Amino acid sequence: MKMTKRVEKLPPYLFVEISRKIAEKRARGEEVISFGIGDPDMPTPPHIIERLCQEAKKPANHRYPESEGLPELRQTIADWYQRRFNVSLDPETEVLPLIGTKEGIGHMAFCFAEPGDNVLVPDPGYPVYSVGTLLAGAEPYYMPLLEKNNFLPDLRQIPEDVLRKATLMWINYPNNPTSAVADLPFYIGVVEFAREHDICVCHDGPYSEVAYDGYRPVSFLQADGARDTGVEFHSLSKSYNMTGWRIGMVVGNPVMIDALKRLKSNLDSGIPQAIQYAAIEAMTGPQDCIEEHNAVYQRRRDLVVDMLIRMGLEVTPPRASLYVWAKVPQGYNSVEFANDLLEKVGVVVTPGIGYGNNGEGYVRLSLTLPDAGLVKGLSRLAEWQDSRNQFKRRV
Ligand SMILES: *Cc1c(COP(=O)(O)O)cnc(C)c1O
Repeated sequence: MKMTKRVEKLPPYLFVEISRKIAEKRARGEEVISFGIGDPDMPTPPHIIERLCQEAKKPANHRYPESEGLPELRQTIADWYQRRFNVSLDPETEVLPLIGTKEGIGHMAFCFAEPGDNVLVPDPGYPVYSVGTLLAGAEPYYMPLLEKNNFLPDLRQIPEDVLRKATLMWINYPNNPTSAVADLPFYIGVVEFAREHDICVCHDGPYSEVAYDGYRPVSFLQADGARDTGVEFHSLSKSYNMTGWRIGMVVGNPVMIDALKRLKSNLDSGIPQAIQYAAIEAMTGPQDCIEEHNAVYQRRRDLVVDMLIRMGLEVTPPRASLYVWAKVPQGYNSVEFANDLLEKVGVVVTPGIGYGNNGEGYVRLSLTLPDAGLVKGLSRLAEWQDSRNQFKRRV
């Protein structure tokens, strides 16, 4: 059997090596504590599950859904954007529910990049941006996200010949994995840049509701003219602990929405309707769960950041997202440091290189660890630090 080049060319799952080591340790009966998984540990709030169960019992929801989503859901999404960001959207032409945001992200390049075109992709970044690009036969151009630029891409550094062939660009704030945030002036600059070079913008914003210290992330669509140049992807996964139900959305430019809708209506048959109603419940029901979850993450953030600083790592406390992005100690690269923690104290962190070349020198720690595991993980990190101090004293 011969696999296609496009599948063969997909980057290998970067964490296979770590997964193998974790499996080995667990097989030996050793407990491994993982800061590696970016998946909320807390359950979906009960009122959302209740609605899902009720809707699952109705025969009308047992049939094929419409691929463009229930009109009530599209209206709910438009209302939510109005309330949350003061952005008005036409639920008919500017809103499209997705089977999880990842699905829409993966399909977008098929709509706006021909083989040979360039797609601008952040590095480090969520891997699906480049994977979708490669599957469509287009070329990712990696925009470095550097600490000195607050992990925002420097759009003026992109070469002219790349820009001539660039049709699509990805940005993502609050950012995974760096946890950086973007403000309105940045998005205004992106709109200007996209207009000048005729590039379709895709902003991926699943962490807009996961923020700390009273900070409220803005939407790309709040920038003047954003809707003329692009769309915003959003998800219920992180806001409402709904990763398992698979529901997200894309909103904004009607031409881009229409293209994705056409592609999708030929590939999938929409989102199970009971799940669409659960999403309506999430967005229209009580919103206290968001504050409650953020308070939990914020407390975990403070514990993790304090420990990392004690270990001598450079780290800026994140204002949003589920991640702490920390510089590895001198003398290690990101894989070596992650391996050292795993081997010596059974703690998993994600090496930054897994998110792109510019992720080298960093590790990502996720805050989605239940409290018992978190406490154990922190005391093991303290152990790692103590053994290092003893080693230094002996030398
Ligand atoms: C989690 C995540 C998503 C995917 O969300 P789903 O709606 O669950 O597919 C998209 N983008 C980024 C950056 C993420 O971290």
